[in-house]
Amino acid sequence: MRAAVLYPEASAVRIVDVPEPRPATGWAVLEVGAAGLCHTDLHVMEGMQFSAKNTVDYTVTRPRILGHEVAGTVVEVGDPADDEWLGRRVAIGSGEQRHVTPGMHIDGGLAQFCAVPVTSLVTVPDGVPIEIAAVAPDSISTAYSAVHQAGAISAADRVAVIGLGGLGLSAVRIAGLSGATVFGVDIDPSRFAAAEAAGARSCVGDVTELTDEGLSLVIDFVGGRTTSAAVDAVGVAGRVVLVGLGASQMTVSPLSLVLGRKSLIGSLGSPKGQVLRKVLDLIAAGQITPAVEAVPFDELVSAYDRLRSGKVLGRMVTRPND
Ligand SMILES: [Zn+2]
Repeated sequence: MRAAVLYPEASAVRIVDVPEPRPATGWAVLEVGAAGLCHTDLHVMEGMQFSAKNTVDYTVTRPRILGHEVAGTVVEVGDPADDEWLGRRVAIGSGEQRHVTPGMHIDGGLAQFCAVPVTSLVTVPDGVPIEIAAVAPDSISTAYSAVHQAGAISAADRVAVIGLGGLGLSAVRIAGLSGATVFGVDIDPSRFAAAEAAGARSCVGDVTELTDEGLSLVIDFVGGRTTSAAVDAVGVAGRVVLVGLGASQMTVSPLSLVLGRKSLIGSLGSPKGQVLRKVLDLIAAGQITPAVEAVPFDELVSAYDRLRSGKVLGRMVTRPND
């Protein structure tokens, strides 16, 4: 089968022929319908080590087929007890079982077929296109978790979302659905229109421009200097949720944090399959309509280059079986 493999020492994936996976007991093989391209993949290619003391280790060993946003159809199971899954359209709730995230701990979805634990499968509702289902487990569920789990949003909140890429636009929409007032923040004004269409009241280039807006919650999909600015800009007792890994170190003002009784909270992916089910239901109901752009599997390397340049609106997906 065709697969996008990241080899040792390489800084880009290579599309090669590899054997198709077979399911072990308790595992299923999907024919991949679509897989998402994520900024995290760029960090992986750069060799970033996703580990820190007292965390789950997401370090990617190589060679590895990338792709942690996957949806497709179950074509084989390792145990007859799991036959009910055969033929079902599914997305993979990547955070359900730690240490078996596709594209990180195990081979991922940038391939024609992908083997995953049955416990990580979530049925895709009828009417949800497979390209949209592919970005639900990471891009949209990550935004949902940041807004609802880490951010504990309510309708009374005044929220700034920093970084208006795929995740940020989803967060703007999800925060807006809860009734909160939402502002968008991005250094690239060409993204403002999409954020306003998703429900942002207005957009600015830097979160410090919102210091007098009474912000109670900031969700930062960039990370680093933006987080320092967010801690300063959020109001008394405000929460800053950090998702983006855009910097390896950052400084935060202790005065701002302590005198303002502010909270700084890290949010990773979506820890529960139930978040993915909720997100898929919101999509099926037409409440979230993620912008996705399909790119040819053969052009993955240049697609990742475009993602790195920051010139992508919404989320890129590819269909390895086309
Ligand atoms: Zn991702």
